[in-house]
Amino acid sequence: MTLKPARLQWSEDGSVLSLDYHDVYFQRGQGAAEADYVFLSQNNLPERFSALHHEPFIVAETGFGTGLNFLRTCRLFAQAAPQTAKLIYISFEKHPIVKDALEKILSLWPETVDLAQDLLRQYPPMLAGHHRAFFLDGRITLQLIYGDMNETLPRSRFKSDAWFLDCFSPRDNPDAWHDPLLHEIAARTKAGGTLSSFTAVGHVRKTLADAGFTVQKTKGFGIKRHMTTAQMPGSSPAPFQKPSSATVIGAGIAGASAARALAESGVSVDVFEREARIAHKTSGNHLGIIYPKMTVDESPLDSWHQHSFCYALRLLAHLKPSSWNPCGVWHQAIDTEDRQRFENLITRREPPTDYARIENSGLLQEPAGMIDPRDFCAGLLDHPNIRVTCDHESNIPAYSDTPIILALGADILAQQNISFAKLQAVRGQVTHIAATPESQKLKHAICHDGYITPAQDDLHVIGATFQKDRMDTQPDPGDDLENVQKLNTHLPQLGFTAADIGSSRAGIRVSTPDKLPIVGAVPDVEKTIAAWRMLRDGKDPTEPAIYAPNIYVLSGLGAHGLTDAPLAGAILAAMITGAPLPVPTDLLQHLLPERFLWRGLKRKQL
Ligand code: SAM
Repeated sequence: MTLKPARLQWSEDGSVLSLDYHDVYFQRGQGAAEADYVFLSQNNLPERFSALHHEPFIVAETGFGTGLNFLRTCRLFAQAAPQTAKLIYISFEKHPIVKDALEKILSLWPETVDLAQDLLRQYPPMLAGHHRAFFLDGRITLQLIYGDMNETLPRSRFKSDAWFLDCFSPRDNPDAWHDPLLHEIAARTKAGGTLSSFTAVGHVRKTLADAGFTVQKTKGFGIKRHMTTAQMPGSSPAPFQKPSSATVIGAGIAGASAARALAESGVSVDVFEREARIAHKTSGNHLGIIYPKMTVDESPLDSWHQHSFCYALRLLAHLKPSSWNPCGVWHQAIDTEDRQRFENLITRREPPTDYARIENSGLLQEPAGMIDPRDFCAGLLDHPNIRVTCDHESNIPAYSDTPIILALGADILAQQNISFAKLQAVRGQVTHIAATPESQKLKHAICHDGYITPAQDDLHVIGATFQKDRMDTQPDPGDDLENVQKLNTHLPQLGFTAADIGSSRAGIRVSTPDKLPIVGAVPDVEKTIAAWRMLRDGKDPTEPAIYAPNIYVLSGLGAHGLTDAPLAGAILAAMITGAPLPVPTDLLQHLLPERFLWRGLKRKQL
């Protein structure tokens, strides 16, 4: 989970040395000019940026380091690219520089100080995985992929227009230049895509040529005699056939998230909602909490929650919904088993303390918080490319000419074509309760086997009940009492009584057998079972699933819709538009709907 931060040594003369690799991050006093020459000019970025239209331009980099190349690229993009253009900058980093040191380094370059402030504000926690950040009003997306590139690059999905190879010298860091890695880089380069590097070492040039690049040795920067440039032969292929429009059915947190991500990718989105207003059903509670579920050992569930939580935080910082309150979430240890679990989690996973730590024998997740889901949905849907129509009953076709995303909440349970996923309804009721003098003091949201939010307008939200397969949504007074009793069992000092109960709301959450959402194209069940029948004999098929044309689903978010939906929406948008995938490919496998067909066949249940 945690990464080892870079070990740095500052010299009197202003250079920064890596003690891990015994090489400098940039040439003293010339870092910006070197980045401009070696990476920006040698990839022809000034001309290529100014010629951009609507397709996002993708830069990929080995070694994020100080972020100098990134900031220089952003600066050039802001100056040269038309307003409609977008940039996605993907960078790999094994040993991130800690934030304080980075701040000091970035102050060396006054020209990019504003961008540097944006970077520092959004700088990801030291957690292995994919992180995103947004710059220039969302026109630039930074995708930082933390971990050893030898592991993370093969598990990432994108094709780059320009590569920056900047991972210390091949002599000091051979791991970043060996043949399989350079072949992975070639596989992630578009036809016509370019590459540059400060090194001109023979074996790097030869391997790049073997991997398909046309390679040149050119004049290096400053004291360096030579450097390498390369191009993947062929002219730029026709861009991925991105649809110009899409339909989202459902305007809860799932539909709003998918619509937003598609709209940001330049797709014009119609959102249809059967109810009279958005966020009316299970996404219509007054407050909900956003936090990552964590497990003691590494697991797909833990990885998914880490990725979706970090993504939600970045999106919230970008959208700035007024009700977002990063109050922190404290998980109370309700028994000795819980206490042990939290301790094991911290010792085994070593998360950064500003992400999760033990406090008062519980687990504190400081960046977590609470939000009004209606405000969150409204903020997501507020985009010029999104049109929302309420009071509209949609017909759901079996296939379609343009993408349709089913974000139907509990109505998904009636969809025959999704029944293979064994989705389950779980009714949950929350209760609004008047604050007591003691409860007014709560700073963090508290989770026990229910939860309580800090008081807002003298009210707390407490909840939630958990009843499988119950579908009625009329508030049930018995459930309010259950919520108060649970609270009084674990937090008796807050002094609540049944007389404090105010209004309540019940909703139906949808959960999957493995507690991970379903995100992706809806498979054609019969055809996929036929194509994958060898699974029954213990053999893995090589064919992908077969899909019903243009029908996608986002469901199974359980009680974690507010945390999970934004990234799930971004994944769907990436699948539909061909944009870089915001998560590792192995994590995606745990989200695709067809995983349930695969497992059913393997267990000979289908
Ligand atoms: N491009 C950077 C900039 O603009 O400041 C400078 C990069 S610095 C020369 C090289 C970076 O590569 C270091 O931050 C180092 O931690 C990182 N690195 C080295 N080996 C790596 C690996 N196997 N996977 C990912 N990152 C690696």
